[in-house]
Amino acid sequence: MTRSSQRTSQRTLQSLLLKRFGMAVASYVLVFVVCLVGGYNGLLTGTPVLYLLLIGVIVLSQALFFWLFVSARNLRFRDPSLTEAQVLVALTWLGALLSLLDEGRGTLLALYVLVMLFGVFQLRSRVFARCALFAFCSFSAINLYEAYTYTLGSPGLAAMQVFTLAVLLLWLCLFANYMQTMRQRMRQRRFALQAHQDTLRGMMRQLEDLVATDELTGLCNRRHFLHLATRALEELQPESRLGLALIDLDHFKRINDVHGHAAGDRVLQMFAGVARACLRDGDTIARYGGEEFVLLLPNADSDQVASCCERLREAFAQAEPIGIKVDNLSLSIGMTLMTSNDNLDDALQRADQALYQAKRGGRNRCAAAWEDSGA
Ligand code: GH3
Ligand code: MG
Ligand code: MG
Repeated sequence: MTRSSQRTSQRTLQSLLLKRFGMAVASYVLVFVVCLVGGYNGLLTGTPVLYLLLIGVIVLSQALFFWLFVSARNLRFRDPSLTEAQVLVALTWLGALLSLLDEGRGTLLALYVLVMLFGVFQLRSRVFARCALFAFCSFSAINLYEAYTYTLGSPGLAAMQVFTLAVLLLWLCLFANYMQTMRQRMRQRRFALQAHQDTLRGMMRQLEDLVATDELTGLCNRRHFLHLATRALEELQPESRLGLALIDLDHFKRINDVHGHAAGDRVLQMFAGVARACLRDGDTIARYGGEEFVLLLPNADSDQVASCCERLREAFAQAEPIGIKVDNLSLSIGMTLMTSNDNLDDALQRADQALYQAKRGGRNRCAAAWEDSGA
């Protein structure tokens, strides 16, 4: 992954985490409204100072989380979502709130579900169970403390609430575990799908290479060359020229006849090697068919095309195919230049006529048809 795409995915994650944090804050506000309704109906016990103190610590804790997210310090933690910490803090404040209530405690027990639901999708099963245990222990501790200090309203009701909470939390743990298993399965499927896609992409690339390559010489084939040349011509700037050359090995039939078809093949392969060694990186050489080849030279003028073709002709004349003794290896070349308003077929025809001239002139030479090509 590149650094910029890493930064983008980090920004996406942070904005998602901030949104989730916003949802948590909204839930706090809703609970506050619920408490206001409870207070209006006379269900809140305890002094207002205690409630103000509770609101104060809640605001402070949430401000701390907000600072962690905004300053990106949350990324330093193993789980940057800080879900476990947020859930544990919320459970603590919920316990504190319930400890202030008397009759309303049973109703607000449902808030445990609300808090725990935040962790269902994010927390691993073990961590979720740890949070559930904390919720259960803190609520039980409140009731035990009240029983110990003889401030517990109704022991039977308290036991019922503790039992209900245990059932709720147990059910939530099972649900969270199921969700985690589902998520893991989906992640595995996604990875398998990605692996299949990578294999398919690799096969597509191989197929594209196969379709574009001449089997014998490894050069690109006529079809692919025409595609590349058409694109190069479309992108050609008015002031630039494209060099085009048709190359034909001389008396090739004779090589086949005297040394055999396999030897002829080896000469064709040798030509491909010589051409590759002679050309620049951006030049394209392709097998046009049989013992004919075609050459495309970007950003070239007539002198450059002529000297490149001459170099290739000389290199081939001096080359020796491995394993066979062929005298007087030579080739003929027909050259032309293409301008931006040129037509590829016309240019190929000009190069072909030039090649014909080279053959007629005695072979083993380069001939040019610059006249109509703006050279
Ligand atoms: P010229 O100098 O006029 O070009 O004569 P030439 O003999 O090279 O031309 P001609 O067109 O008469 O013969 C071309 C030969 O190339 C005929 C064909 O059998 C041979 N050839 C075409 N493709 C292949 C190939 O893939 N392998 C081999 N070994 N020979 C091939
Ligand atoms: Mg030929
Ligand atoms: Mg030939």
